[in-house]
Amino acid sequence: MDPPGAPGDRITGGGLVIELVSAERCIACDKCVKVCPTNVFDRGPDGVPLLSRQEDCQTCFQCEANCPVDALFVAPVTHPLPDDQAVRDEGHLDRAGLLGSYRRHIGWGHGRTPAPLRAVGPQLPAPGAGRPSPPITS
Ligand code: SF4
Ligand code: SF4
Repeated sequence: MDPPGAPGDRITGGGLVIELVSAERCIACDKCVKVCPTNVFDRGPDGVPLLSRQEDCQTCFQCEANCPVDALFVAPVTHPLPDDQAVRDEGHLDRAGLLGSYRRHIGWGHGRTPAPLRAVGPQLPAPGAGRPSPPITS
């Protein structure tokens, strides 16, 4: 049996992970490799990133946010999870719609609405409309 993380695994990096890379979805664009602030990834021989320094992950979600095909899942925890956790199972993540869910929630990606436009808050004037004048009292 191949060791966890061997090329061809559907999930790379198993055994230590707090995030998963779907080799089935990955298009080997290198965005996650470049955006990671702590250099967690190495490009694998087939272009699918390997979680080479997973213990350096800061759970910043930048890799998941920037993956154009929702191939990544960063678990919202700061410690490695046991092997039997559902979030370590790509099939579960796929069925539950969790792969790339952070990117979806922040509205990044073609056809999505950026999260700031969905934020609840005070009504703001349209750009260029300026502030209403205060009433004249004297
Ligand atoms: S969550 Fe942040 S630190 Fe962790 S692998 Fe992704 S980009 Fe790197
Ligand atoms: S950003 Fe997504 S598609 Fe690109 S290399 Fe990373 S996992 Fe693969």
